[in-house]
Amino acid sequence: MSAAPSLDPGARRDQLAAALERVHDRIRAAALAARRDPREITLIAVTKYHPITDIEALVALGHRDIAENKDQEARAKVEDLPAEVRAGVRVHFVGQLQTNKARSTARYADVVHSVDRERLATALGRGAERALEAGERQEVLDVLIQVGLDRKESASAARGGAAPEVALELASRIQQFASLRLRGVMGVAPHGASPEQTAQAFETLADISRQVRTEVASADWISAGMSQDLESAVAAGATHLRVGSAILGSRPLDR
Ligand SMILES: *Cc1c(COP(=O)(O)O)cnc(C)c1O
Repeated sequence: MSAAPSLDPGARRDQLAAALERVHDRIRAAALAARRDPREITLIAVTKYHPITDIEALVALGHRDIAENKDQEARAKVEDLPAEVRAGVRVHFVGQLQTNKARSTARYADVVHSVDRERLATALGRGAERALEAGERQEVLDVLIQVGLDRKESASAARGGAAPEVALELASRIQQFASLRLRGVMGVAPHGASPEQTAQAFETLADISRQVRTEVASADWISAGMSQDLESAVAAGATHLRVGSAILGSRPLDR
């Protein structure tokens, strides 16, 4: 499943340790430049397409937050994790989510970053209610509103994300569910954007975060920044970075 050449487990663990350290160095440098405390920034390792042995190695290295972007792959991996590894991991779902998969995702995800429409918020709210009742989860489901940062409508539709002007409506919908806890906002920089356009997109996200916090003061997470643009995200106030290839190496072409 992994695009990485197969290494023996010890060599793979060393490779992941070195990559994690490089990314943490980048985060520290970016935080310093932005006069921010690096401890307020959470690094999420996006493990999609990589095997669960990589998740186990990351956890053994003291890493806690992992992310997946497809329900089927995520569910299979989380179910296969040994219980003691699962207990040490916070599972983030960051991909576009079909409404009919929401019940499944609500069973195993700790955080869903990609809530971008009312129907999905409702499906996740009900799914999390049922998962709580069934004892499939112990905690409410943390959610973020994904805001579309692409300027072109078509591009935005392809990558997911609510129009900025509906973010507040979505926030109040989420608030209606005791099974959900709104934690903040998420965004993906436009595909092929210049550094300036990327910085501008992350500033837009920070503005929307401020608006959402006027309604829900505790929703202060800003999930932004990937392998290529994490410095720009840190400069704009990101609290959560979703980093895949810079930690795990290349993967087969994304769908
Ligand atoms: C794959 C993915 C990432 C990580 O991308 P990299 O460029 O590999 O760091 C971040 N966010 C989302 C939503 C993703 O699907």
